[in-house]
Amino acid sequence: VRLGGCPLLLVRGAADDPDLARRLARLPGVARVAALPGPHLLSARETFAGRTRVPIRPGLEVGGGEFVVMAGPCAVEGEEQIRTIAAAVAANGARVLRGGAFKPRTTPICFQGLGSPGLELLDRAGREQRLPIISEALAQRQLDEVAGRVDLLQVGMRNALNYTLLAEIGRHPLRRPVLIKCGIGATLREFLCAADYVLSGGNQNVILCLRGSAGFGCSSRAVLNMADIPALRRMTHLPIVGDPSHAAGRRELVPALSAAALAAGADGLLVEVHDRPDQALCDGPQALTPEQFGRMMFRLGPLAAALGRTLASPARPPVGLEAHPLADLGVEAPAAHA
Ligand code: PEP
Ligand code: MN
Repeated sequence: VRLGGCPLLLVRGAADDPDLARRLARLPGVARVAALPGPHLLSARETFAGRTRVPIRPGLEVGGGEFVVMAGPCAVEGEEQIRTIAAAVAANGARVLRGGAFKPRTTPICFQGLGSPGLELLDRAGREQRLPIISEALAQRQLDEVAGRVDLLQVGMRNALNYTLLAEIGRHPLRRPVLIKCGIGATLREFLCAADYVLSGGNQNVILCLRGSAGFGCSSRAVLNMADIPALRRMTHLPIVGDPSHAAGRRELVPALSAAALAAGADGLLVEVHDRPDQALCDGPQALTPEQFGRMMFRLGPLAAALGRTLASPARPPVGLEAHPLADLGVEAPAAHA
């Protein structure tokens, strides 16, 4: 197999045989011999010296110094909706426009997405705002179409264990960067094995997205364990982003979760924003309004800078800013000291 342009030789049993490992290390052309930590292989920290940076377009990569925020509605619902939201997120520092055209819904009676016309609307709105776009393909038969339109291909939580689809994406000739969500009940190792399916097809541009698992908590839709961010970082060379929207399920929790993901070392966010969340056809309760998104981005800026990262900031100072930064993150400000 090859990774990052380097050939990788896998030798079964070498980890248990120090003599064999020493002899392998002395062979001409061998740069490094490392024992693999578990079933995940191509995504493992040990297989790639350094960190993978996923190029999206010139001047934009995920996994470098910039904290990259991808934002937009859960689903593309119409031309005016996606154009309005695209303009709002672009003005507030989003670097990628999200929007589902093919939606994986829990019940067949829910809005399933606009399909191909939705993809076209997303594409046009992205061009209008000069933002690359991300959208999900649910099945193999949608791959050519979705990969042909998007800059980043999304694999959702439900398909994160669909190995046929993952392998097909890895082999897809367009080689689009891929964002994979963590499966709802998957361990971090299983998550990395899913990424290996894409990597082993020859596509090295994989971004991991943590969106929370099923849990017993009642404060949020899913449980996003913040410890998973630094834990995953130790296990893999791939970039990691957080999805605070699906984790929270409630918009008032999203900004604080976003700040926590940034502080825990994530490389970016995937956030849902809707201009009329009450009328959204999908995931309205967890969508930030453009105003909330603007205030969140404004407050994340100094936090990113303090952590040695860059973050695109809102074009104008947001309106309705609270006196205390925490209040703009949806958290009550501490009581003032006399
Ligand atoms: C989405 O991003 O809108 C989505 C369907 O997410 P998930 O796959 O994490 O549920
Ligand atoms: Mn959604």
